[in-house]
Amino acid sequence: MPAHRSLACRCGAMHWTIAADAPGTHVECYCADCQTFLRHLKAEDYLDSAGGTELFQTLPHAVRFTAGADNLRLLRLSPKGLMRWYADCCGTPIANTLASPGLPFVGMVLKPGTSGFGPVVTHANVAAALKPVQQGGIARAVLGVLSRALRAKLTASGRATPFFGADRAPTVAPKILTLAERDAARPPKAG
Ligand SMILES: [Zn+2]
Ligand SMILES: [Zn+2]
Repeated sequence: MPAHRSLACRCGAMHWTIAADAPGTHVECYCADCQTFLRHLKAEDYLDSAGGTELFQTLPHAVRFTAGADNLRLLRLSPKGLMRWYADCCGTPIANTLASPGLPFVGMVLKPGTSGFGPVVTHANVAAALKPVQQGGIARAVLGVLSRALRAKLTASGRATPFFGADRAPTVAPKILTLAERDAARPPKAG
């Protein structure tokens, strides 16, 4: 088995890896905010036919940017929204993190059909799906986030993250969407 799983943006300028042994949960999230993020980037090809975003929820220290890291940008849908990371070179979505590194967590965005992450085991926030999807696996995803984070927080290497600096600020200043920008990218079923 290779030491890591390699991902790249669509134009090839940015490359990043996720350690092969990184524990994680393969989640499909249908929430309106995930859809808005991808629609704002014009990355609808990363949404499945029901508007779902595939995420591999894992620990930030498992992630390395290996090429083109200067293209990394950060978006928030609102002043309190999740940190949503993407490649500015071509608008490829990369990851979601919380607003601070206190809870070691990252959801790495996967293009539908990306191999190497096992089957999707959690279908979340299905109320905003564009067609009927059965919700499931929520407890498994929540427990996964908490158990991984609790173990990771015990060591300095476990708390390491490429998304935040030593001052706990994100490595890139976030751009916060205006209400007009956000509304323009809202999916059809957003309330
Ligand atoms: Zn690119
Ligand atoms: Zn979501």
